[in-house]
Amino acid sequence: MFKFLSAEPLHDPLAAGPVADTTVKCTTCYMCACRCGIRVHLREGDNGPEVRYIDGNPEHPLNKGVICAKGSSGIMKQISPARLTQPLLRQSGSERGAGEFEPISWERTYDILTERLAKIRATDPKKFALFTGRDQMQALTGLFARQFGTPNYAAHGGFCSVNMAAGMIYTVGGSFWEFGGPDLDRSRLFVMIGTAEDHHSNPMKVAISKFKRDGGRFISINPMRTGYSAIADEWIPIKPGTDGALFMALLHELIRTDQIDHAFLKRFTNAPQLVVLDEGEREGLFAFDPDPEKGPPGDGRHPHNKLVWDKTSGQVLNAYPEGIADGCDPAIEGFYTLADGSRVAPSFQLLRDRVATCTPEWAETITGVKAERIRQLAGEMGHAAFEQAFTLPIPWTDAWGKQHPHTQARPVAFHAMRGLAAHSNGFQTVRALAILMSVLGTIDAPGGFRHKAPYPRHIVPNYRAFNDPGMIQPNTPLNAAPLGFPAHPDELAIHPDGSPIRIDHAFSWEHPLSAHGMMHNVITNAVKGDPYRIDTLMMFMANMAWNSTMNTSAVREMLNRKDDTGEYMIPFIVVCDAFQSETVAFADLVLPDTTYLERHDVMGMLDRPISEFDGPVDSVRVPVVKPLGECKPFQEVLIELAGRLKFPAFTTPEGARKFTGYPDFVVNFQPAPGVGFLMGWRGKDGQSHLKGEPNPKQWEMYEKNNCVFQLHLPETMHYMRNWNREYLDFAKDKSWRQRNDPIQLALYSDTLQFFRLAAQGKSSGRQPPDALRERIATYFDPLPFWYAPLEEAATDLKAYPLNAITQRPMAMYHSWDSQNAWLRQIHSHNYLHVNPVTAQAAGILDGGWCWVESQWGKVRCMIRYSEAVEPGTVWTWNAIGKADGAWQLAPGADEARKGFLLNHLITEELPFKGAKGATTISNSDPITGQAGWYDVRVRIRPADPEEPQASFPQFASMPAAPGVLGKAVQVMAYFAGRKKS
Ligand code: SF4
Repeated sequence: MFKFLSAEPLHDPLAAGPVADTTVKCTTCYMCACRCGIRVHLREGDNGPEVRYIDGNPEHPLNKGVICAKGSSGIMKQISPARLTQPLLRQSGSERGAGEFEPISWERTYDILTERLAKIRATDPKKFALFTGRDQMQALTGLFARQFGTPNYAAHGGFCSVNMAAGMIYTVGGSFWEFGGPDLDRSRLFVMIGTAEDHHSNPMKVAISKFKRDGGRFISINPMRTGYSAIADEWIPIKPGTDGALFMALLHELIRTDQIDHAFLKRFTNAPQLVVLDEGEREGLFAFDPDPEKGPPGDGRHPHNKLVWDKTSGQVLNAYPEGIADGCDPAIEGFYTLADGSRVAPSFQLLRDRVATCTPEWAETITGVKAERIRQLAGEMGHAAFEQAFTLPIPWTDAWGKQHPHTQARPVAFHAMRGLAAHSNGFQTVRALAILMSVLGTIDAPGGFRHKAPYPRHIVPNYRAFNDPGMIQPNTPLNAAPLGFPAHPDELAIHPDGSPIRIDHAFSWEHPLSAHGMMHNVITNAVKGDPYRIDTLMMFMANMAWNSTMNTSAVREMLNRKDDTGEYMIPFIVVCDAFQSETVAFADLVLPDTTYLERHDVMGMLDRPISEFDGPVDSVRVPVVKPLGECKPFQEVLIELAGRLKFPAFTTPEGARKFTGYPDFVVNFQPAPGVGFLMGWRGKDGQSHLKGEPNPKQWEMYEKNNCVFQLHLPETMHYMRNWNREYLDFAKDKSWRQRNDPIQLALYSDTLQFFRLAAQGKSSGRQPPDALRERIATYFDPLPFWYAPLEEAATDLKAYPLNAITQRPMAMYHSWDSQNAWLRQIHSHNYLHVNPVTAQAAGILDGGWCWVESQWGKVRCMIRYSEAVEPGTVWTWNAIGKADGAWQLAPGADEARKGFLLNHLITEELPFKGAKGATTISNSDPITGQAGWYDVRVRIRPADPEEPQASFPQFASMPAAPGVLGKAVQVMAYFAGRKKS
């Protein structure tokens, strides 16, 4: 009898011990970015332990035993036929893309890399570019680039959601994802916008279900209803790229009806700070008192020396600290004149003026959401924030010493992600959302948005990106990290003539605040030689010849393009991946990576921890099975190369290696005394937490404790952490922040105004090239505003009337190795989802083949009617479609023949009028460089019945790489521990 027909459960997660003949090891899942605790059940096979199954770890603080379809499917990742098993070198004489390789040893691999990289480093280090995908060890990869001496480094954030990170961090000091989130335990109204799923995946699912059971109201605003929206109480369809207009109208309504938190705005934001209205070099900046005694200097870039107008005394006071004193009543409205005759107004007055014309009727014409519904929505938000408000009996003391006997709750919570971010107007849209949350008083408040350590950061975070071209010197590390948060034109990564330092043009006048870099520009710019040609491009976990790029077909051609001498425009490409992805075919050298079950990993405070609202959490992975074949963790490869190349941080002055490998590096590397990659069990005896000397047994301590360290902060440090004296002191003491000054919310951004003044020629110092002046002056508005996505200006909207967007399905959300034998039983191909009204108007039947055309390209695919999408939008699942033969799929597999990739329709560049006439510029947000890949406009038409019933475009099938696991039969009949004998 088959077990699955038995009444006896296959596995009881609460059973006392392991099932007979299995052992259980705890580690951390990496089937998505959530990083739940898992238990891996192992059975001894011919070659050591094999994974029998994976379940959630009930002892883990994040998921408390919950596991999702992806997490349990990790078993199929481990035995994927697409696993690479040995280093590969492109066969001499073969063309890139043909996928013809010869296996080589690691020693030869290291020799090739060391020789090539040493030569680049000794001559012109910027000719080495390191770009990574969903790399969650950027503290190491970024350090490697910095030590190498190249500014050309970034992970995939510029392609993913940097607008969400930067828009929120430049406004409230924190963001969604693992940096913060909605406090659904105490909220009454939850508004989710532009979100399908989340980094905080299982915890979010648990929280939403509890929230709903407790009677909370859940509204989803999205062009389509998928993912979490499926269980929303109400779905409000909205046109893509118009969320900013909705937020502006909501602000209009909340301010018009006076549903705003006056006390919060006056004390905790820059709403009362006075902005200079007179023309000139101080125009639009905050008026300030130059006396250094009148407020702490902050980080030097944004001193707390601003002024407010005190209504009680009728005079100007220093915002910090006099304007905060009891008895003062800082004005947030009105116009005033300073003693020197300057005309000023509180920044909130300017915000009020800005939204005055943003009526619900105005927003209706842009968003498609009825004006009446917008008014009701504002009313619901105001009702939750103020009528359903309550207090928690948690006393706290603010940064100015005022004791608050309780903590004020504002039970309206928001959550947003790429739906807002992946548009060229995303930064200002996200700022508008952050300001909406701020006027409701929901920042780090019970029931609202809450930070997770080490957030909140300073506004602007005190991490400057590398910006000194003179410091790119042979055999010399950079004097700053390649990525950071510019606060002023002086901090841009540009040459004296204003041209970009970086290959991706990040931190240049084209995209000044590109905090995560611009991975989507690298290949195009390197091939154009703009601003220069590079020698070696190393990619890790980044499928940039397929779904991690825009304009996929063209990028694939570029990877193969040669110059007049017959040399490839990008002479050497190194790809590190665990699987034979589409990009592997374009590599000159392939480094076979390990899976998350085969290596050590760190999710720590120097990078992307998994903190909870009430305190910091970090975690690790430990190997639970042996690496397959000759696979090596990329971390180990970097440590090895760093030693061979003699990077100062990795070698002694005598040239000896400091670290034996990655685990040793994690324990012993300290960017500052007492600060390391992991915060648990520090100190020689493991008794210190957060800070302390390296502990040689730190890995063991993590292993014994479910691979996770959690610190519960006292209740008095749970809320209002932008201004909470106890928390601010603690955060500084633990080196999460350099200073302990309060973090006033930036409703008005003088940071943006600095750039605008430069563009307007009103400030001394750096100014943008003339061709970029208007662009900067327009988009660097210190107040949020909505503008149409930039692609619209380059598009005939009548010819291409539909928006087209993509998202990942729940079963593959954040699964970068998205081909998985179990999960492809759920999705083996994708459809274009279209509202029946739209599809029928185009004459396309449900299930029929159609053409989707943008002005940049076309794809042929199958259509599926769906009422769950607004009529002006079509959408599909991303990265289900694969190139033939990639991922070791059988020839003609559904993924290649029926699946398709929308990225073929998206351009990575838009037309632009440059100094020398028509040129192009990245199809990205003009502020942050976030890829505008949700901006594409399309039309649809039926495919001719005579045409092949297969998706278009198709590519020549990739052959199996030497050594690729390739045993699909084993997948079908897999059972851990099955002995051959
Ligand atoms: S939510 Fe993500 S990390 Fe958690 S079990 Fe699922 S795949 Fe793994």
